[in-house]
Amino acid sequence: MYIVMLGAPGTGKGTVGGLLSKELNIPHISSGEIFRNYIKKHNKLGKEIESYITEGKLVPDELAIQLIEKRLEEPDTENGAILDGFPRTENQAIVLNKFLEEKEQRINIAVDLSLPDKEIIDRIVKRRTCPNTACREIYNIDFKPPKVDGICDKCGTELIQRIDDNEQTVKQRLETYHTISEGLIKYYKKQDILYTVKLNNKSDLTTKDIVEDIKAYLNKD
Ligand code: AMP
Repeated sequence: MYIVMLGAPGTGKGTVGGLLSKELNIPHISSGEIFRNYIKKHNKLGKEIESYITEGKLVPDELAIQLIEKRLEEPDTENGAILDGFPRTENQAIVLNKFLEEKEQRINIAVDLSLPDKEIIDRIVKRRTCPNTACREIYNIDFKPPKVDGICDKCGTELIQRIDDNEQTVKQRLETYHTISEGLIKYYKKQDILYTVKLNNKSDLTTKDIVEDIKAYLNKD
């Protein structure tokens, strides 16, 4: 089963994707995290990726597709995956469909999490992330602070603020999202697999509720 998580940055794709991955027992693959891991290598490729990410721009399609397909060839994806942040352009979506078709697989649902831009900016500048890839817990210094300042409750790792989680870059990322990625929503709507969740900071819809609703949709499949 393949699940695509759509939605602008800061809408909770990572949190929902993480819980879905545990419940459905398929890996949670975040393109942003894959790219951040390349950046940590401090080599030529990592530096190239960093230059796009720090400017809030998308990594070029060819490179993004190459690195994600490499990840999708790993044996843990045998029963599918939750794709968080990929595809982000219609071209990536078309290539992904072809890739899955060759494996006699398909995308079962494209989840679109939507939240007003103003609320996204507020969420992202207050977001703190656990960099431990086995944990990845996400905090918000206002509405979900860690028990000990700056330390992950779950694994004790020091929390970080991502290099692109600042107001200026977020605004650029949102612009990129609205101009490029929204075509994807239409693309998946046409294929009749789009599932939209409208959120706002006052909504009492929890991550668990969203995951249960997605599972109910998948069971109808
Ligand atoms: P995310 O962690 O999903 O917010 O992604 C962080 C950044 O990584 C984005 O702002 C883009 O610069 C880059 N990125 C992530 N996924 C993709 C993708 N599918 N295509 C191109 N760039 C991406």
